[in-house]
Amino acid sequence: MKSYQFGEYGGALQPSDQETPTPQGDEALVRIRACGVCHSDIHMWDGHFDLGNGRELDISRGRSLPFTLGHEIAGEVVAVGPTSEGVSVGAQRVVFPWIGCSDCPVCHAGNEHLCPRPQTLGTNVDGGFSDHVMVPHARYLFDHGDVPAELASTYACSGLTAYSALDKVKEHAAGRTLVIIGAGGVGFAALRVAQALFDTQLIVTDIDDTKLQAAKEGGAAYVFNVNDEDTPKEIKKLTGGGSGAVIDFVGSEASAKFGLKIIGNSGTLIVVGLFGGALAVPLPLVVLKHITIRGSFLGSLEQMGELMELVRSGEVPSIPVEPRPLARAQQALEDLRGGQILGRVVLVP
Ligand SMILES: [Zn+2]
Ligand SMILES: [Zn+2]
Repeated sequence: MKSYQFGEYGGALQPSDQETPTPQGDEALVRIRACGVCHSDIHMWDGHFDLGNGRELDISRGRSLPFTLGHEIAGEVVAVGPTSEGVSVGAQRVVFPWIGCSDCPVCHAGNEHLCPRPQTLGTNVDGGFSDHVMVPHARYLFDHGDVPAELASTYACSGLTAYSALDKVKEHAAGRTLVIIGAGGVGFAALRVAQALFDTQLIVTDIDDTKLQAAKEGGAAYVFNVNDEDTPKEIKKLTGGGSGAVIDFVGSEASAKFGLKIIGNSGTLIVVGLFGGALAVPLPLVVLKHITIRGSFLGSLEQMGELMELVRSGEVPSIPVEPRPLARAQQALEDLRGGQILGRVVLVP
């Protein structure tokens, strides 16, 4: 099998040819048809997150180099291990990559995506910038119905992350307003999934007018450019003093600060993006406005099942997907870092 791997953090992605493995036990071998390119691939490639104030979070441990990135994988099951159940050769599936140790309290509680000993594809174990990937068990494989593999792949991370964040603001957003900060890959996915999930007025903000235009066409009731200084005032007017729910898909100091500015009383600010930085919060405001600030990371296996059911029902409008050859993986990462991508770039082997 052919993969594109980096041999050192930040170094070039190089093609590598290895023997295609044979599935053992419960494993299933997937021939990859599509793999989405995600912002967290860039962080993995860099080996660190920016924590703000000159501090960095080292995430270079827990994987050996050379390493294959890519965790938004869809493809065809081409071989299964002798004890595998629940999937057959020929099945078209999207892969839940957030695999845990399956033997700790976190995993037992159904939160494999938060396991302290993760076995995540594309993060800890070689992932989808390749033509094949091994999946340890059929329970991580989800039917994507009539949805093409290129789009289905994006539900494994951006779609699931959006779904999980939306799930956390259900009560705060329904019948009121929801502000989505950042109309990039995950923000746009949230705009689409939100339309299938609940009846609420969707407001999208970004710093890029092209993305805002796409969001408007994609179902946002209102869009605002954050660089326009009247934006917080306008949103407050529109939401009767502040929004019940704000989801920050950027996760920078500026975006979270903006989120706090437009949140209403008893509102919830969910931070999802991992751009990096630090935030100073005026504590009396947290109390007096009775607000919640909460993080949301990925989503659970159960939520993946719920999301894919919604997707198969045809209720989730698609996001813009741009297929590119797998050999162009590095360019895709660089374009994403430069903010030049609308929707999702999906690598096709
Ligand atoms: Zn991702
Ligand atoms: Zn675990």
